[in-house]
Amino acid sequence: MLSALNLSASQVDPRSVLIVGGGVSGMQAALSLAALGVPVLLVEKNAHLGGQVMRLDKVYPTDHCAFCPAWSTAKACYESPLIKVVLHAELTGLSTDGEQALAEVTLRRPAIDPASCLFCGSCAEACPRKAVLRRDPIMTWDPALPPAMRIDEALCDKCGACAKACPVQAIDLGVKPVTVSVPVADVIYATGFAEPRPGEPEHAPEFGSGSHPDICTAMEFEAWHGESRGQDRLTTRSDGRPVRRVAFVQCAGARDVRHLPYCAAVCCMHAMKQARWLKRRQPDLDITLFYNDLRAPGAGQEAYVRAGEVEGIRLVRSRPGLVKEAGKLGIGLRYEDAATGSALGEHFDMVVVNGGLAQCPLPGHTPAASAGPLAPVTLACGFCAEPVDVAGAVIQGVATAAAAAMRRRSAESVGGDA
Ligand SMILES: Cc1cc2nc3c(=O)[nH]c(=O)nc-3n(C[C@H](O)[C@H](O)[C@H](O)COP(=O)(O)OP(=O)(O)OC[C@H]3O[C@@H](n4cnc5c(N)ncnc54)[C@H](O)[C@@H]3O)c2cc1C
Repeated sequence: MLSALNLSASQVDPRSVLIVGGGVSGMQAALSLAALGVPVLLVEKNAHLGGQVMRLDKVYPTDHCAFCPAWSTAKACYESPLIKVVLHAELTGLSTDGEQALAEVTLRRPAIDPASCLFCGSCAEACPRKAVLRRDPIMTWDPALPPAMRIDEALCDKCGACAKACPVQAIDLGVKPVTVSVPVADVIYATGFAEPRPGEPEHAPEFGSGSHPDICTAMEFEAWHGESRGQDRLTTRSDGRPVRRVAFVQCAGARDVRHLPYCAAVCCMHAMKQARWLKRRQPDLDITLFYNDLRAPGAGQEAYVRAGEVEGIRLVRSRPGLVKEAGKLGIGLRYEDAATGSALGEHFDMVVVNGGLAQCPLPGHTPAASAGPLAPVTLACGFCAEPVDVAGAVIQGVATAAAAAMRRRSAESVGGDA
């Protein structure tokens, strides 16, 4: 059960395709390859498969639960005899030993061993810095990992109080990363995107990200007021006041030469999704979406946006230039109305800033590492290849797996002819 935390060269079939990143795209690529009989090594840097989708509440354009299908897909990966899943693992380099391509995978085992942890909470009680947390719910269901406590590295000062309090010696604060070199035949990157954290994008401070609890990121808002969280009415994060007016600010860092010059492709739709959740539960809520170009390119997406408009969500084509705390008036927002060219200002109780989503780098993917007859040929799928939503990421996973399998088949037939 805990094999997902271990990796050695002998466990890996040298004909394996290495997939870096276990989000929906990487998982789909793994399952598609396994269905074609190709062995897969799937490495994921987090403690669970599923990627960012595991943090979503419901997904557009159907408003179905995000978690359930992603969970079933993760379970299928763990259970496939052809897929070796390794968690807490990152690809750190690609090389060759002269005959075989090698991937360097760095394992960062958690300080609290999930195999031994009793989930009793003694460590959390003993910690003077409140650095020991219960795993958040998305990790407790993971079939490869039983429920366990976890340490927030940013808060921990390694005083050792937790290790002393643990009744089963499950805590090793000195655990170090280990790098293992494993043979692989091909590499698919599925590293996804890095969501903006509060305070980002740093070079666009005019959007006020991180400056006030009621100016939040879309992912924070998803957690604060997701439809399944059970709150009927939206309240402020700062002091729990009822919210009467809420704004969504689009392209706050995307399509902007200072940060991400491209469109992140999913923000207009997920803002509309969140706005519609709110409207469904609170029809009297005043909701405005400030957009640059409203992008709804996928199947059913235009209808989804129009339905939101009919439900009363106000759409303002504009370029907001300032989001700032305004004392008793809440959060002030200044913008240029694209229809009239006028500079206008309004106040809201909460503002959700959609700061663009940066594509994750492809670790180990250097021209040198990918060149030469023995270097594994690399492919990419999902958000790291191009900004896509869940449906697009899954489709890309299937397509990339098919491309890798075809390449292998033609290499084998060339080898056979020779
Ligand atoms: C607020 C918000 C709401 C959204 N709502 C919707 C929605 O309603 N509907 C919809 O269709 N889409 C939605 N999206 C978009 C959706 O999240 C993405 O389309 C989807 O997550 C892309 O999947 P992926 O597998 O490409 O990447 P990810 O989900 O980002 O997964 C990538 C995985 O790779 C791992 N990884 C990264 N680097 C490494 C490394 N070096 N080594 C090992 N592992 C690594 C990461 O830990 C992660 O698990 C939303 C996005 C946001 C931000």
